Amino acid sequence: MVLALETPLEDIPRIQRRFLVKLNKLGLKTVKDLLWHFPFRYEDWREISRIAELRPGDEKTIQGEIIEITLKRTPQKRMFITEALISDETGSIQALWFNQPYIRHSLQKGKMVSLAGKATLYKNRLVLQNPAYEILNTRYGVRGTSHTARIIPIYPETKGLTSKGIRYLIKPILESLEKMPEFLPADMLRELKLPEINIALRQIHLPSSVDEAEQAKKRFSFQDLFLLQLKNAEEKAALQKEQAPLIKYDLEEIKDALKALPFELTDSQKKALWEILQDLSKPHPMNRLLQGDVGSGKTIVAGIAALVSAQTPNNLQAVFMAPTEILARQHFDTLIKFFKDFENGIGLLVAKETKIFYGDGLETKITKTNFLKEVATGKVKILVGTHALIQKGVEFKNLGLVVVDEQHRFGVKQRALLLRGARLMPHFLSMSATPIPRTLTMTIFSNLDLSIIKELPKGRKNIITKIVAPENRDKAYAFIRGQVRRGRQVFVICPRIEKAEDTAWSEVKAVKEEYEKLEKNVFPDLKVAMLHGKLKSEEKAKIMSDLQNKQSDILVTTSVVEVGVDVPNATIMMIEGAERFGLAQLYQFRGRVGRGEHQSFCFLFTDSKAAQTEARLKSLLTAKNGFELAEYDLAIRGPGEFLGEAQTGMPDIALKAIQNPELLKMAQEKTREIIKKDPELKNHPALKEKLNQFEKEIHLE
Ligand code: ADP
Ligand code: MG
Repeated sequence: MVLALETPLEDIPRIQRRFLVKLNKLGLKTVKDLLWHFPFRYEDWREISRIAELRPGDEKTIQGEIIEITLKRTPQKRMFITEALISDETGSIQALWFNQPYIRHSLQKGKMVSLAGKATLYKNRLVLQNPAYEILNTRYGVRGTSHTARIIPIYPETKGLTSKGIRYLIKPILESLEKMPEFLPADMLRELKLPEINIALRQIHLPSSVDEAEQAKKRFSFQDLFLLQLKNAEEKAALQKEQAPLIKYDLEEIKDALKALPFELTDSQKKALWEILQDLSKPHPMNRLLQGDVGSGKTIVAGIAALVSAQTPNNLQAVFMAPTEILARQHFDTLIKFFKDFENGIGLLVAKETKIFYGDGLETKITKTNFLKEVATGKVKILVGTHALIQKGVEFKNLGLVVVDEQHRFGVKQRALLLRGARLMPHFLSMSATPIPRTLTMTIFSNLDLSIIKELPKGRKNIITKIVAPENRDKAYAFIRGQVRRGRQVFVICPRIEKAEDTAWSEVKAVKEEYEKLEKNVFPDLKVAMLHGKLKSEEKAKIMSDLQNKQSDILVTTSVVEVGVDVPNATIMMIEGAERFGLAQLYQFRGRVGRGEHQSFCFLFTDSKAAQTEARLKSLLTAKNGFELAEYDLAIRGPGEFLGEAQTGMPDIALKAIQNPELLKMAQEKTREIIKKDPELKNHPALKEKLNQFEKEIHLE
């Protein structure tokens, strides 16, 4: 049977059902999945020693005949011990396997075996303890080894599916795999000294030297980095060919708008705004990422851009899209507060509510049908909303600018939906407070131009952060009461209790319990409110506005407040089960306080005594900014943490980028070279095809 990469593993007769189940647990369903399940390290067992020459501490392979094999049970501990005596022409040695009684059935007296393990002294004799083993003489004759006497790949395992099992499965598959077409240009491979794809795949699983394995690995890392860079470059080039609505800015008008603000923009904000305005005045669509630490003031920068777009003579509209309803409402409130003289319609569209502000200080509620008409006729110039914005029925007259907050929550697909029907491709600005290290940004978002807000507005106080041990809980509560007496407000964040099936509900349970405890027992004298994702949107809106208007003192909530929520009077962020959150997320939570004039505090509650938890949480105390924290989080937890699981394939590529800065540079260089010579990849059809496939694979959802 010739196997293709797409062949489902279940179609391969020699793979037994019990293996299939385990392979599925590792997410491996096709031949490609299995073959791309790469070893994470290798062991060198190439050296075969004669038994007589073996010394204590040696880690070598020996080969010989089984003279005797017995299964014993220790009287005290009732442990199984398989004992075998192996001998070659120089001598003999005992091999011991603990608690692997089945070995007795795999190895029989008279068989020629190959064993790889560490020679140690056991009861004053030299023995091999738990060596890897395989039989050399089968009924088909002597065969090559897979688990001893060579470089042995070690794979990520799952319970019941060992590296040995994976090696056993992979070898025959490699042998009957159909040849894959090479898509990297031959001269590129030659220059970079990288192996051809079929060879590389074989060498990664069955290398004859560690060096060979490394080169093979490098090839695949390079290939992914290169394809990603190429995809991004292609996207960038494609945008350069699109026409965008011209947004000419009037410097005087901008100055007036800025003067009306209650604060002066920081230098970074000004620079970012300037970069954005330059892009808007070009005839091609902007595609820019505005990155800035939590609280650095991204909203107003994007807001001014929206204002400029809405004030152009060519009647353009701007859209402001937020990941949650709470945030959408907050952005709406911010815009109508800052732009109170703006008469051309700022609209809010969320699932169950629509309203418009026309600069008269009044928000007008309006039926959805009429609202959509106002949008379609271009009367609403700035439209703020959630996913509701990309639903059917929302048509724009003349879309000029799309702003997306916390973009990692939106996929490319949704973005495309928003652009649907537009005659000209609107400008695009995405904002993110997710502190992604620069290397990563340049790898993953190399299709975007980057503006970074580096500093926080002046006068922000450092947030005092403390890890609170269980015995100090009462003290913390007393402190909180004191703060509330002085008029401050408090967030209490609860993680979900456990990884239940219905995670959203178990999160709710945790919040409810905590809410009841605080409201009834701890703070019966204070106004405690509760917020979670399962509430109706009107309820959520009411709870948030109560908090804004100081109708409540303490808000017990879930991670729904994670991104963007802005309540300057809140000064305490208390996080339950802090060890359950990623650092980036904790950082976001903490960013909810310290937004006003008062000293703010963040209390991290944890019952975990693990040293690693402590070290992680402590990094929140020491890191100077989100970027530093991100580097740290990346180092200890891997990039999946802050990129989010949804970005399939990305964390993996990101990891490669971080681990191989040189290779990344190479991939970027090669991308530039090839795009320069052959921008459409006309002379590289195999590469072009692979690129299309790659886009589907990483589907940036
Ligand atoms: P983020 O970048 O996290 O989205 P926001 O845009 O929500 O931050 O801004 C945080 C707070 O800082 C808001 O209350 C905003 O009005 C305020 N702010 C923004 N820019 C400045 C500034 N230059 N000086 C003082 N306060 C500012
Ligand atoms: Mg924000």
